[in-house]
Amino acid sequence: METQVLYPDQAGIARAAEAIREGQLVAFPTETVYGLGANALSADAVVRIFEVKGRPRFDPLIVHVAAPDEVPTLWRSIPPLAEKLMERFWPGPLTLVLAKEKRVPDIVTAGLPTVAVRMPSDPVALGLISEAQRPIAAPSANRFGRSSPTHHEHVLSELTNLVEVVLAAGPTTVGIESTVLSLADSPPRLLRPGGTPLEALREEVPDLHVETPPGPSASPGTLPRHYLPRTPLFLLEPGPAKGSGEHLERRRCGMLAFNEPWKAFGRVEVLSPHGDLREAAAQFFAALRRLDAAELAAIVAEQIPEEGLGLAIAARLRRASAGHARLSGNHVWIIR
Ligand code: AMP
Ligand code: MG
Repeated sequence: METQVLYPDQAGIARAAEAIREGQLVAFPTETVYGLGANALSADAVVRIFEVKGRPRFDPLIVHVAAPDEVPTLWRSIPPLAEKLMERFWPGPLTLVLAKEKRVPDIVTAGLPTVAVRMPSDPVALGLISEAQRPIAAPSANRFGRSSPTHHEHVLSELTNLVEVVLAAGPTTVGIESTVLSLADSPPRLLRPGGTPLEALREEVPDLHVETPPGPSASPGTLPRHYLPRTPLFLLEPGPAKGSGEHLERRRCGMLAFNEPWKAFGRVEVLSPHGDLREAAAQFFAALRRLDAAELAAIVAEQIPEEGLGLAIAARLRRASAGHARLSGNHVWIIR
């Protein structure tokens, strides 16, 4: 199969929408990350998402809609809290989980009685969904376990000639996946921190249940290790290097820094020189990919303040991490 790479103008979106209607796969931008989309109401189309990604069947997908009035066809009933959250946070990076209607195929929800739904704000995504005239099931457009793509180049590097269409729209704005909230639980439960800050959610859901860090049971897809770079990644801990471990020269290591560059590393990526967590989130996955491509012995990541979007970044760093490290002189001490 040869992938059609399309500029996301009217003609490109129309062609992509046609591909969705024909049961094909389309990688498309959202404000969070690129999605790998198929007609959510066709089990045959959705099966291919799992095959192409190498995604385990127990990991359910998010269904994307172009307007809130599409949700009654997907959810069995809509509680007042869901109405309130959709009103305030849609379109945007908030996914809501509720009991599903029968017409949503089991493959979409990995056999769960609930379905996750979101209305993205990206105009290309909205144009695609409304022209396709079908809800679109989409996980992130990367191979399973790898970092999410925040640019169409990331998608092309992993999925060229595996999907029919890629809408090439450049970088995404939020850069980190949606916050996933289950309203099927009582009290409502945070399943994944993401692009909608927890602080804002709590204003509407004061009794929100949050496990810190979220346990693997919270949501089927939240495996403890995920977003994996090929290069081992270690979280930097304060304190002197001692105990059992291994020294690596700093120049053989990469550094993923929050707001200030660190000295003597082989390569440094600064997420936000102004210390802005939104900017850091937008840069996060691309910076991780650049470090991963630099053929380093290890990547060391600075801890990110766990507030606002920092909570989502910190959660992803934990899951991308192979362990911990400390600095000693011009060396990195990998803690074993
Ligand atoms: P991704 O599409 O890779 O962003 O992953 C979507 C994630 O949303 C899944 O890995 C699950 O953690 C979560 N999710 C989707 N549907 C459900 C559901 N019905 N119940 C609980 N979590 C869900
Ligand atoms: Mg993903």
